[in-house]
Amino acid sequence: MAATFRLKSRLALVTGGGSGIGRAISQRLSLEGASVAVVDVNIDSAKDTLQSLCHGLVGQAHTAFQVDVSQSQSVSALIEQIQAQYSRSPCIAISSAGITRDEFLLHLAEESFDSVLSVNLKGPFLITQAVARALVANGQNKGSIINIGSIVGKVGNLGQCNYAASKAGVEGLTRTAAKELARYGIRCNTVLPGFISTPMTDKVPQKVLDKISGSIPMGRLGKPEDIADVCAFLASDDSKYITGASIEVTGGLFM
Ligand code: NAD
Repeated sequence: MAATFRLKSRLALVTGGGSGIGRAISQRLSLEGASVAVVDVNIDSAKDTLQSLCHGLVGQAHTAFQVDVSQSQSVSALIEQIQAQYSRSPCIAISSAGITRDEFLLHLAEESFDSVLSVNLKGPFLITQAVARALVANGQNKGSIINIGSIVGKVGNLGQCNYAASKAGVEGLTRTAAKELARYGIRCNTVLPGFISTPMTDKVPQKVLDKISGSIPMGRLGKPEDIADVCAFLASDDSKYITGASIEVTGGLFM
């Protein structure tokens, strides 16, 4: 629970905001006082998230947008729509949209590799670039970009060579953006969740989840709120000297 309105008057964009981790992040940022642009390819789920957001402060306004983060035209249109609606650019951008297309390397189809890279890596690239361009053009000199990677990008995982490659790429993208954008007051960080209970992990067989839980030192899968806590910190001035970092939120898995 937020103790103070750390994000009062800030405008945040959250991709994948219609489900799981992105929904929890949207909720947490709204609780901290931010206005939230909830972005998802599934507009109905983004609208559902909107219903759950906090409107505690005067002027706090949330909007749902339908966007495919893997398409540059869709992302450009999003930034224009946000600018038109709020008369400013988001100073917080969190890329949580992601997909899996799991298969062992020996059987993985090229299309499954490409689609995962398009959403999970090209998506954060397009969002990071578009938001940073808008912030630099407006001379805002302050921003926080947070990309959701995965511990799997560091350690690999059976059946996920496409996903692991995309998430390793997110760390490289974010660290490089951090180096290039620091001079504009824009911080860029990656959050690396371990295994978190969401619709994405609902696809994993229960016996596999039980095995994973057994190997997590803290003894349980993570909750979306565990990731949202860290994103709220990274979005706020409490992390003002942190950039280019990758923060593991795994309950101690693979430490
Ligand atoms: P989720 O499936 O619950 O939510 C993903 C959201 O992304 C969905 O609402 C979906 O509609 C949206 N989305 C998919 N493709 C999109 C596109 N092209 N454009 C816009 N939106 C799109 O998944 P989640 O578990 O909440 O995962 C969120 C992020 O966290 C993902 O990047 C995922 O890879 C990462 N992650 C999750 C876990 C986990 O255990 N759940 C672990 C590590 C990393």
